[in-house]
Amino acid sequence: MELIGIFGGTFNPIHNGHLVLAKTVLDTLHCNQIRFIPSAIPPHKAIPAVTARHRANMVQLAIADHPEFILDTCELDRQGPSYTIETLHLLRKRLPDQSLCLIMGQDSYLKLPTWHRWLELLDYCHLLVVHRADAEQKLQLHTEHQNRLVNIAHAAEQFTENAHGFISYLPVTPPDISSTRIREALGQREIASVPGIPDKVLYYIKANHLYQS
Ligand code: ATP
Repeated sequence: MELIGIFGGTFNPIHNGHLVLAKTVLDTLHCNQIRFIPSAIPPHKAIPAVTARHRANMVQLAIADHPEFILDTCELDRQGPSYTIETLHLLRKRLPDQSLCLIMGQDSYLKLPTWHRWLELLDYCHLLVVHRADAEQKLQLHTEHQNRLVNIAHAAEQFTENAHGFISYLPVTPPDISSTRIREALGQREIASVPGIPDKVLYYIKANHLYQS
């Protein structure tokens, strides 16, 4: 079965941590594609000052050189909070014969029990949790997931043989970057000197006067 990576985020803005994470997952799991899905209204964060359309445009610029990376704007067309379970429901209809793998950093995984209908996620997809350098807590699998764990060495095989239902942990650490720190730097410094973000995205930010204090 084809394996599709689903990478949701606020991408406010997208940064090199996101890109290295996606490339590492692509290479480790041999995914056929990774779909970047910017959230319109993130359920667990303050509503971003930068519109979802601008955030999606920055994702498009950042991934343009990677043929396996696709921008999926399905959450931009919905009303209300962008619940991942609803996105997965939609993707399952669109991609009935593919295996889906939801990708997330360790910080997001630890907060999973606060997500809407989180126990149903594995009915739609696999989960791949990626180590994060600035994670405040050590990774511990939620009890409900303990019998679903697959060693990363076998994840590619298990994930392609089954359409959903398993979880694995990738102990590789993407660069220690966060959108929060990038936004802070953009508000304080000359835009061209902010590291950790692709040049094309920096030009877009400058041209559209985003993140200026
Ligand atoms: P913010 O600082 O605004 O909270 P963020 O940098 O965490 O944003 P998001 O768009 O919220 O970026 O992240 C999307 C997903 O990517 C999340 O699952 C997050 O855990 C993961 N992620 C983002 N940056 C990294 C990183 N540097 N290392 C590992 N995972 C990351």
